Amino acid sequence: MPLFDNFGRSIHDLRISITDRCNYRCVYCRTGTNGAAYAELPFEDYLRMARILVGLGITKIRLTGGEPLLRKGIVEFVRSLAQLRTLDGKKPEIALTTNGHLLAEIAQPLKDAGLDRVTVSMDAVDPDRFARITRVPNGYESVLAGVRASRRAGLDPVKINCVLLRGFNEDQIIPFGMFAREERVVVRFIEFMPLEEDRVWTPQIVVTLDEIVSRMSEYLPLEEITHQRSETARRYRFSDGVGEIGIIAPVSHPFCGHCSRIRITSDGKLRTCLFSVWDHDLHELMRRGATDEKLTEFIVKVMEKKEERHHIGEPGFVPASRTMVHIGG
Ligand code: SAM
Repeated sequence: MPLFDNFGRSIHDLRISITDRCNYRCVYCRTGTNGAAYAELPFEDYLRMARILVGLGITKIRLTGGEPLLRKGIVEFVRSLAQLRTLDGKKPEIALTTNGHLLAEIAQPLKDAGLDRVTVSMDAVDPDRFARITRVPNGYESVLAGVRASRRAGLDPVKINCVLLRGFNEDQIIPFGMFAREERVVVRFIEFMPLEEDRVWTPQIVVTLDEIVSRMSEYLPLEEITHQRSETARRYRFSDGVGEIGIIAPVSHPFCGHCSRIRITSDGKLRTCLFSVWDHDLHELMRRGATDEKLTEFIVKVMEKKEERHHIGEPGFVPASRTMVHIGG
């Protein structure tokens, strides 16, 4: 029984945050701390939730956080997820979003356990700027090693997520274009969303899709590549055929109409949108002994409440009940 929401959107993409702790304190995400605000569950609880959701049509599972590689046992968890079967009898696609700091050592074991793809977040390709953004010294070399180890392990494609902030790192656009070509990775720029702990977001800080395309074209012309409907990124290749970039533009070009996602937070709440002002306590039901049937019923009902769209930048915008790091990006 595939999952649909009230707007006819098929929900097949699950994100599980396995911790809201992080070893970085990125300036646009955290206030300066990196501790947890919410609980973490044993992996078997996430696994049960994932199993039920895969039985409802989920085909792709992304592990995120906080920083997911801080959780010991992640390799075994990936191995267990890889045993699940989708409604078509296939292994679900398994992906990871990480800051990459601890990735170099674990990329191959993760691949062997069944991880298909990895996205590494990097907001500068310059070591000093990188340290100023993450507020952690000497991280750049570790992350670069993680990116390269992922490619060697055959995680394909390796994607890099970069959030641009006006006046802070927008000068990194062209260096990231060069990085994409040299390192053979897909760099995806993400427009900054009002999901930070410090509530510093303004529309003026957002570096928009149009600006990114125009700036990158000063380096080399770009050609847009067709993308799948439920894909969040607009994709572009360089005109000489070497290298690809993507732009995720939830602020200037919202894509809510194609949203196929549901999220589980580290403490086991279901979230139907990044910008939800409430969440739905799946774990509490489990704790009280609910059967799989009851949990399925609950999930189907929650899906009916999925928001039609976000309201970023509109008058009366109500901030989400959690910030990005405590939801799972
Ligand atoms: N620690 C992992 C990482 O760094 O990728 C996973 C969690 S992190 C919250 C996931 C992604 O969300 C990162 O790519 C980060 O840059 C992005 N992010 C965080 N705050 C954001 C915001 N306010 N707007 C857009 N993206 C944001």
